[in-house]
This record gives sequence, C-alpha cells and structure tokens, in this order.
Amino acid sequence: MDFAFITEHEMVQKTVRDFAEKEIRPVIGEYDREHKYPHFLLPKMAELGVMGICIPVRYGGAGMDYISLGIVSEALEWADASVRETIAVHLALNAMTVFQWGTEEQKQRLLAPLATGAKVGCFGLTESGAGSDVAALKATARKDGDDYILDGEKMWITLADVADYLLVFAKTDPAKKHRGITAFMLERGMAGLSTGAIEDKMGVWASNTGWIAMNAVRVPARNRIGEEGEGFKVAMSALDNARYTVAAGASGGIRAVMEASLRYSQERETFGKKIAEHQLVQQMLAKMALNYDIATLLWQRVGWLKNQGVRNTRETSQAKWFATEAAWEAASDAVQIHGAYGFSAEYGVERYLRNAKGAAIYEGTTQIHQLLQATYALGWRRDKPLRCELPAYDPEYWQE
Ligand SMILES: Cc1cc2nc3c(=O)[nH]c(=O)nc-3n(C[C@H](O)[C@H](O)[C@H](O)COP(=O)(O)OP(=O)(O)OC[C@H]3O[C@@H](n4cnc5c(N)ncnc54)[C@H](O)[C@@H]3O)c2cc1C
Repeated sequence: MDFAFITEHEMVQKTVRDFAEKEIRPVIGEYDREHKYPHFLLPKMAELGVMGICIPVRYGGAGMDYISLGIVSEALEWADASVRETIAVHLALNAMTVFQWGTEEQKQRLLAPLATGAKVGCFGLTESGAGSDVAALKATARKDGDDYILDGEKMWITLADVADYLLVFAKTDPAKKHRGITAFMLERGMAGLSTGAIEDKMGVWASNTGWIAMNAVRVPARNRIGEEGEGFKVAMSALDNARYTVAAGASGGIRAVMEASLRYSQERETFGKKIAEHQLVQQMLAKMALNYDIATLLWQRVGWLKNQGVRNTRETSQAKWFATEAAWEAASDAVQIHGAYGFSAEYGVERYLRNAKGAAIYEGTTQIHQLLQATYALGWRRDKPLRCELPAYDPEYWQE
C-alpha cells in the first residue's frame, strides 16, 4: 500500500493550490459579498486544464487521472466552495456523464468543447417538488419525429445562468416512475428554454444557483444521453462522480479553516496566554486535524477505486457524508475560536460555515447518505453493473 502522490499529482496539486492562493483567495471575498459569479476564472481554469482535468486528451481534456480531479477539488474549495462547485457541476456532473454514457459522436460534439472549457455545463435534476425523491420529478419529454419536446422546470441548479450545455432529466414514460426518466443535453439558445438566478441564499454567494424553465423545448434525439428510460442510472452515476468532488472539496474547506484557526489561536491572548494554550481550544484544533486526515483518506480511496474502474457508490457516499459534516463542524469551531471576529466577515471563516451547510444538502442530503450506508451495512443493497461504467484510468489511452 502506497499513500504517496506520484510526481504528476504533486504537480497538479502545486499548480492548482498556487492558482487558488494567487488568483482566487485575494478576490473571492468580494465576489461573495456582492453575490457575483466570478466569470473571469473560467478561461483561467480552462487554460490550466482544470475544466477537463480527468478527460482524455483525445476529447479535449488534460488526460490526468481521477485522483487529480480530487486534488483540484480540494485545492479550489480551500479558496471557496463556489469555485469548486463549478468543477463538480461542469465537469463531474455534465462532462464526465457524456464521457461515461455518450456515443462517440456525442463525445466529439459535446464533450470536447466542455473539456477544453469552450463550453460550460450544468446538471438539472432537482425540481421544486423533487429533490431527494428523484422519481417524483415532473418534467416530461414527448417524442415527436426525430425530436423530443421537453416541458417542465428545474430548481436549485448550479450554473443555470452560466451554462451553455444543460443536462436535464425528464420523464419519457411517467407511469414507469424512475425507470421512465431520460437524460437530454439542452443547448443555450433552444427556443422555449430560459434560466434565472435564485437570490437570497444562505451560502455559496459567489456561485450561480438558479432555475431552468422548459416550455416546449425541441431537442433532437442526437442530444439524448443514454437510452430512453436510463436517465435515473445516468443521474446516479453522475452523482457518484460529483459527490467525490464534493468530498474532496470539503477536505479543502477543513484545511482552510484549520489553517486560519491555528494562526489565530497562536496570536490571540486571553488570561495571559495564547488561546492555543487553552485545552478546550486545542480540542477543537485536534478535531479539525483528525477530520481533515479522515476526509482526505476517504476521498483518496474513492479516487483510487475510480482509477481501477471499480464501482464506488458506497465509498463515495461515505466520503461525501463524512467530509461535508466534518467541514460544517470545523467551520463552526473556527468561528468559535475566532470569537466575535469569527462572527464578522473580517477573517472569512464565517463564509466557510455558510458554504458548508449547502454541501450537506446537495448531492444527497446527510440523511439520504445515512440511509444508503445503512442499506449497505445491512446487506440489503448490492450495486448492479451498469451498461456504461466509468472507464478505468489508462494513462496511454488518456494521454494519446
Ligand atoms: C447550493 C445548492 C446547489 C444545488 N445545485 C444543484 C444542481 O446543480 N443540480 C440539481 O439537480 N440540484 C441541485 N441542488 C438541489 C439539491 O440536490 C437538493 O436540494 C437536494 O437533493 C435535497 O432535496 P430538497 O432540497 O428537495 O430536500 P428534500 O428532499 O425535500 O428533503 C428535505 C429534508 O427531508 C429529509 N429527507 C428526505 N427524504 C428523507 C428520507 N427518506 N428519510 C429521512 N430524511 C429524508 C432530507 O434529508 C432533508 O433534511 C442544489 C441545492 C443547493 C442548496
């Protein structure tokens, strides 16, 4: 067993951590306060290869492995969860889904511009009446010649206003419930398609979160991702990829608030000593350090499984559940350690607390992951092979 990163991972980590420190950290607080999406980061992330980090070079990606995707997510969320969300949604939920389920023609036409960052993707599964209960979604897709006509709405969609390609899920056969769901790639500009932003969120203020409205949107059959009725499986496999980025990202959030807390606790004095010398403060610092390591080990195990081409739904769910709750606790303790200054925006730790709550809700709430883990532990759940599994990482193929 070898826990060390290989040289390529070290390079990716150094490059993206430098980028996060120099390009994101200095400005993200302002974007957050002003509830503005940092559009200027997209071409910069594209230039770094981050927008398609784990997609093969032949499809416009950087040709790196799945562990690199985790490294990128960790480094970006150290700066802000909103920026990591861009990777989770654009790459893990949208581009990787085309890579996993798309035809060769779709990979050339849709994946390549996504992987280079020329186009941005989003993922529309949730509706106002259907979140955890995906099968309750009401959007419909009706076949009309070589096209489908889509009607319905999507809610809480990250990058809804930013994306060029919108991967949405609609029922082609409502009577079949989750077996009647199909995935479609909508393109900005299609008649009947509109999007808007949701304001007044608790966190991720620098992210674009919005809605999608589909009013008789005509989508050619060549934009159907997977077969009719396969949409639920497509969505769940996409979540296996995105939950991984959320888990790794949450580790980066823990690292950020831990660093701030270590610094502050060795500066601030009460009762004649540094607050770091008070054992109750040390307890909070120790918990952050422990949880950072556990969260890191959990996401890295998932990255390793993905590289081997081994199904990882259980391990990904564990990593996501643990890391997002640990990030929430760490951010809350960081605010506590900073006292009143933690409660103000001055030290930035309150931003991590606000952002951390979102991650315990999206990509499966904590309760949904607890239920899932119980069914695995009880032996009631077994993952069946998918028609299209995420391919194992093969450096020769990826970099050719
Ligand atoms: C910032 C943000 C970004 C998002 N981005 C996207 C996106 O890009 N694309 C997208 O499709 N969606 C997105 N979402 C939506 C997100 O995936 C849903 O909010 C999430 O799945 C939960 O659904 P819900 O909000 O409808 O809550 P509900 O499903 O209504 O749940 C409400 C509460 O009930 C609990 N609950 C529900 N069912 C059970 C059960 N069986 N047992 C025990 N407890 C249960 C939940 O855990 C929760 O506490 C985003 C959400 C947020 C907050």
